[in-house]
Amino acid sequence: MRRRSIRLTNALLLGVLAPLVWVANATAQAKPLAGGDVPKIYERLLKQIDQIPIYDNHSHATFADDSDMDAMAAPPDESTVLRLSDTNPEFVAAAKSLFGYPYDDFKPEHAKWLIDKKKTAEAAGGTAYWDGILDKLNIETCLANRVALAPYLDPKRFHWVFFVDSFLFPFDNHNQIAKNGDMAVYVPLQEKVLHRYMKQENVGALPADLAGYERFVRQTLVDNQKKGGVAVKFEAAYFRSLYFSDPPREKAEAIYAKYHAGDVPSDEDYRIFQDYVFRVLIDQAGKLNLPMHFHSAVGIGDYFSLRNGNPLNLENVVRDPRYSKVKFVLIHGGYPYTLDMIWMTAAKNVYTDSSLMGYYVYPSELKNILKQWISLFPEKIMFGSDAFPFNEAVGAEETFWLASRSARTATAAALAELVSEGAFNEEKALELARRYLHDNAAMLYGDKR
Ligand SMILES: [Zn+2]
Repeated sequence: MRRRSIRLTNALLLGVLAPLVWVANATAQAKPLAGGDVPKIYERLLKQIDQIPIYDNHSHATFADDSDMDAMAAPPDESTVLRLSDTNPEFVAAAKSLFGYPYDDFKPEHAKWLIDKKKTAEAAGGTAYWDGILDKLNIETCLANRVALAPYLDPKRFHWVFFVDSFLFPFDNHNQIAKNGDMAVYVPLQEKVLHRYMKQENVGALPADLAGYERFVRQTLVDNQKKGGVAVKFEAAYFRSLYFSDPPREKAEAIYAKYHAGDVPSDEDYRIFQDYVFRVLIDQAGKLNLPMHFHSAVGIGDYFSLRNGNPLNLENVVRDPRYSKVKFVLIHGGYPYTLDMIWMTAAKNVYTDSSLMGYYVYPSELKNILKQWISLFPEKIMFGSDAFPFNEAVGAEETFWLASRSARTATAAALAELVSEGAFNEEKALELARRYLHDNAAMLYGDKR
């Protein structure tokens, strides 16, 4: 309470009255129930919100057959939420809206129409196709999580986020792979990415000591940033807990010396080593001013641990004074821990986005989450599509559509209720919408638009 009143006094002393105007406009305390004017306010707001160019904090913009779309792959037999089932009519609506798809289902003989269209675009080459998809959805800029940026993505519109989990797996991974069916899919792919980075850095074999390995890790980040990387991405929640301890360097050094030339590390030794390398990565990302993205939510696969993926595991890291200058972007809203997540963003250097959850749940539920987020820390939340190809027919194109339409309507609905309840006026509502859909991300990544 004391802090709040000091802030207010400072604002008055400095004559910074603008933020208070909307408070003055309210005639009374906000009401707990919205009124009958919600649909009308919603329509008015949505018209304006449709005009806001989106800054997409998280996507996998890609053609369906491009294996660089992710450093991971979905294990077989993963379960799917209802909204993402093949029979969701919203995907037909997406294909109609984007391409004029002439059918009402994805029966194989119909889906072929759509697949052919995408294959033709891929064969044509050039960047016009994906720029065109963004234009149709009024998406201005889009972060693309990829192993490498694709020649068909315009670097002016699609900014590269590169993966760094592979640095956690330099040793003999037989024990890791044997853990379960998910790890059997994931870990060999991490080994592949690590070898790709080694080739990029002209590192023939693992360096002889930890100092050499650290140089390799740090230099890869430098070079990836030079190639256009704007952020680093951890999918670590798929492999292990997001809780990272803080082991002394000597311990990691001894473990590296023991295993770099062969031998299967014990689980405990591997974990300690990973915890140490993780901290090297944070340190380097901080030095290079590269925000760190974390998968922090539910995940695909049969063995994903909700507990391991809970964003609260990262509290010791994001609140560590050594990393106060590092920007942490905890993507997917920590779903289903969305309330925990928004309180994580109370830390100055923590941000979140609505990617993934924005198409897991329907807009009515996304509205509830956004209403809570906007009411708490509206300057720390961003839109993310998590656009991704689900199969050859339903691609990243359709998921861009589904995610952006859902977010625009849910934002308008959340804000309409808040306006009707007397929390603030429509002008303030639109300012908050712009923050979520564009401005917060543009500020975070330093785009001067
Ligand atoms: Zn993703």
